[in-house]
Amino acid sequence: MAGPVKIGDILKSKGMVTDKQLDIAFIQHKVTGDLIGDVLVKLGFVSAKERGQILAEQSGIEFIDLDEYAISDEALKLVSKDVSLKNEFVPLDVGDGKVSIGITEPGNIMAIDTVARLTKKQVKTYIVDRDTYYDTIEKAYYFLENPIYQQMEKIIRNVLSTGAPSGNELVSMTDMIIMDGIRKNATDIHITPTPDVTQVFYRVDGVLQFGHCLPRAIHIGITSRIKILGHIDIAETRLPQDGAFSFDFLNKSYDLRVSTIPTIYGENIVLRILSGKGTLLRMESLGFDAAETARLRGLFQKPYGVILVTGPTGSGKTTTLYSALREVNLLERNVLTVEDPVEYKLSFVKQTQVLDRAGYDFALAGRNFMRQDPDVILLGEIRDEETAKIAIRASITGHLVITTLHTNDAVTSIPRLVDLNVDKYLLSSSLLAIVSQRLLRKVCNYCKTGYSFNDEEKALFREFGIQAESGYKSAGCARCNNTGYMGRTVIAEILLVDDEVKEMIYEGISAPTIKERAITKGMRPFKHHGMLKAAEGITTIEEVLRVAG
Ligand SMILES: [Zn+2]
Repeated sequence: MAGPVKIGDILKSKGMVTDKQLDIAFIQHKVTGDLIGDVLVKLGFVSAKERGQILAEQSGIEFIDLDEYAISDEALKLVSKDVSLKNEFVPLDVGDGKVSIGITEPGNIMAIDTVARLTKKQVKTYIVDRDTYYDTIEKAYYFLENPIYQQMEKIIRNVLSTGAPSGNELVSMTDMIIMDGIRKNATDIHITPTPDVTQVFYRVDGVLQFGHCLPRAIHIGITSRIKILGHIDIAETRLPQDGAFSFDFLNKSYDLRVSTIPTIYGENIVLRILSGKGTLLRMESLGFDAAETARLRGLFQKPYGVILVTGPTGSGKTTTLYSALREVNLLERNVLTVEDPVEYKLSFVKQTQVLDRAGYDFALAGRNFMRQDPDVILLGEIRDEETAKIAIRASITGHLVITTLHTNDAVTSIPRLVDLNVDKYLLSSSLLAIVSQRLLRKVCNYCKTGYSFNDEEKALFREFGIQAESGYKSAGCARCNNTGYMGRTVIAEILLVDDEVKEMIYEGISAPTIKERAITKGMRPFKHHGMLKAAEGITTIEEVLRVAG
């Protein structure tokens, strides 16, 4: 059995932690008394998931990522929440006379015995990571005991018979709309009035999914309820407004941002859920290939210059930024960030958060960071001329600046910055690379079906010199909410700013020309990366065409 103390040696032999990181973890362990493995996770040297994977590997038990796993209700019904929590396991699935459970420690015989005794079935174990474990248990049992669809159904029937919802019904309805979003891991909730009904949609893995259909009589009530929560003027219905509130659910606090616009059928509401669980991943697990990962690693070690990460909203830029920070030697370089909002807390990094009403924005932060003896500055986003200029100036004065821009591909970031009145010479001399990215949904492992590509499909691959004969189609099943997909992976376009590109930027050469030249020099466009992933069976052709078509 892999003891928690030994985990440090294993991580070191795998190159996942350095001697220095282990030393610091050991010193902290002596102060706090926490297990070394836990300290390493707390310090952000390894993620909880990585610790789980190492435990799994050591014990020869398969690892399951609970974030990408849908627990079956039948399995949950077999054992109570108390029993699960007491014995630190989570029921996963049941079938063929077997029960699958997830355990956080390989030697958890108690869990296996308990499940075998209670269910009279054979027990199959998987390793799950401890951080996700508690959250998963809480959510799974809560929704088993409080089936949202049935409760909503009841309120809808009531409203249809009485004609108007009560105050309590409005509060629960609003709560359930939000809870269902949290259950689905949605990033946004859309509450849309139509002539006959109000429709609720959820954005999950980047795609809208139909959620609920509510009686029209409930719309104004829900809208008002959300506006009150968001500290928005409820009397104003003719103008767009925005606000924010936090929603507490199962011992966790979720930050929600509210936006309203007046449509011809009433106010349309969009809630963005900021889960506060930005993921801490290593560069190699984001979806970049090995060569790109190595190239990016090298970039983030540079002493100065600007690295831009670009992409539309929800393209995983923040996750890439956090994994980039893990590549920076945080014990030797002073890193300051300004984010909107902070999505993941990192040890040794001085993180700050934009606060508009106090006037603390990216530009103000950037200006003041210079007096904090920085080595690396992360500016959450370049939104205006001032921030753009601060980023360039900081890099020219010897700092590494990591920041993001909202652009659709790598090369268009150049004219965007020029539009912000950034000097072409300074831009060309400070820019190291532009990483543009999008997220592709991965085909669901539970319902994917293999098939042979037809000639038309083969031609799509040949366009990029890829020979592919077969791949997967997604069918849709209960586990993936009938979408056919589960989890996402990055596809990226990386523009390395070498001397020739610098020259082109300085000369003011057009973006399409730079792009063409970059491709001949090896920049791989999004679609090419996507088709490679379809050929590998990670995703489907349809998904590649949807995201990068
Ligand atoms: Zn499926």
